[in-house]
Amino acid sequence: MAAEIRAFPCLSDNFGYLIHDPETGATASVDAPEAAPIIRQLDAEGWQLTDILITHHHHDHVGGVAELKQTYGCRVVAPHDRTTGIAAVDQRVAHGDIVKVGNLLARVLETPGHTLDHISYVFDSEKALFAADTLFSIGCGRVFEGTYPMMWDSLLKLRALPDDFRLYCGHEYTASNVKFALTVEPDNEALKARAEEVTRLRAAGQPTIPSLLGHEKKANVFLRADDPAVAIKLHMKGASPEQVFAELRERKNKS
Ligand SMILES: [Zn+2]
Repeated sequence: MAAEIRAFPCLSDNFGYLIHDPETGATASVDAPEAAPIIRQLDAEGWQLTDILITHHHHDHVGGVAELKQTYGCRVVAPHDRTTGIAAVDQRVAHGDIVKVGNLLARVLETPGHTLDHISYVFDSEKALFAADTLFSIGCGRVFEGTYPMMWDSLLKLRALPDDFRLYCGHEYTASNVKFALTVEPDNEALKARAEEVTRLRAAGQPTIPSLLGHEKKANVFLRADDPAVAIKLHMKGASPEQVFAELRERKNKS
């Protein structure tokens, strides 16, 4: 039986995610922005929370952990970086570790840059990538704690995943990301198609997530900082991918 994934809004623009293994009944929440909507979703499905898989220490990703842990006695899995104060952690994971959710297997990728502790979870059999605040649809996270080369390297790890994987990211930022991306690449056909789709989805009150990684590779300029055409668009012909990425990210910060 295939895994079931649910996406739902939390806080102002975060996503809550549940992934459920029908064979064992195990259910993981990827991050826990706040407890109430996660509990509501679990109740609606008749699922018991067994695990929380944390991506990074920011409050809008861990704010619900303590209450969920108390309510369900679930296991809390978190990045190995102990410098941050994530409460109630049972298991620390690092690059290449495998986390079991019932019979589902999640592979841990270290994707630092937004924060130094940031990890992403890849469910290979389910073709699902939970990238939190490293990779957004048509954008990427702000670089708060790491460096631009570090963040670019993290994006390359995610870009290396197959085209038919689905991206589940931490925030509903797609419309604002599309608006910025069009200022850099007004003629990118894949981006224009995504822009139309996002307008339609948002008008209907629908989330823009998940998106296909293959589409992101074409439409998301932050994944193409090593494309000479992008450097030329920024008047940076011959610049390194790290320099191009930094310029893109700084322009987005100011947009
Ligand atoms: Zn964050």
